[in-house]
Amino acid sequence: MLADLHTHTWHSDGDLAPAALVDLACRRGVDLLAITDHDGTGALADPAVRDCRALRIVPGVEISTQWRGAGIHVVGLGIDPGQRTLADGLAAQRRAREARARTIAARLERLGARDALASAAAHAPRGYLGRPHFASVLVEQGVAKDRAQAFRKYLGAGKPGDVKTDFAALDEAVGWLSAAGGIAVLAHPAKYRFTRTRLRALVTAFVEAGGEAIEVISGHQTPDVTQQLARLCREFGLLASCGSDFHSESRAWAALGRHAPLPSGLTPVWQRLAAAHG
Ligand code: MN
Ligand code: MN
Ligand code: MN
Repeated sequence: MLADLHTHTWHSDGDLAPAALVDLACRRGVDLLAITDHDGTGALADPAVRDCRALRIVPGVEISTQWRGAGIHVVGLGIDPGQRTLADGLAAQRRAREARARTIAARLERLGARDALASAAAHAPRGYLGRPHFASVLVEQGVAKDRAQAFRKYLGAGKPGDVKTDFAALDEAVGWLSAAGGIAVLAHPAKYRFTRTRLRALVTAFVEAGGEAIEVISGHQTPDVTQQLARLCREFGLLASCGSDFHSESRAWAALGRHAPLPSGLTPVWQRLAAAHG
């Protein structure tokens, strides 16, 4: 059973169309594929996804949330994308992103960029605007000499383009997923670079909010990290998920369907998905 339960299409910041993602998953021998774009479910309505017979597709989403000042990602699996609470919540998330993009654009314009919002939008034809698109604008307008400099001087942590987005609180987002019949999965817990104590506090808050699973495997990671997350998973009695966090074929550390299998002794989250969705 090869399950990749965390992937992106070009409906958020992935490179591939939904059809191309499904194709690639088939070629990699994936049996169960969750499509989990950031704060949107547009890919799930694509005919290549809706009518897919070649493999099983789990409807999903990845929600950006805030917890004690940190940005935490929560994946929802087995969601009903049409459910009102979730759809309204995701729409608010997208409005928060748009407000952030307007703020970034205004700041970059004061630093020499011209028509920054429209120029960035031209690089993001499906409307998912982020800092990489602003980096392209800074380079093409000669404000920065390359993308690395664009991030170093303008967009990186602590720079003018580093604008916080007013995302939902962790427990609120978990509530949306539960309302939509989904399983909330704490995404890539090792990526937050928390201390052990802080990570346990996060998992505690996540479980209290109704979270049921954590990603024990996220792309390529060291065996140390896998063992630590497996312990956490057992200790809190959570379901175990695994996924590549695939965005693009150029990211070798997040290759579709190429992540390590789940350690034995954990309950894979797909056992619950099968029970709920036949
Ligand atoms: Mn992403
Ligand atoms: Mn993420
Ligand atoms: Mn992701």
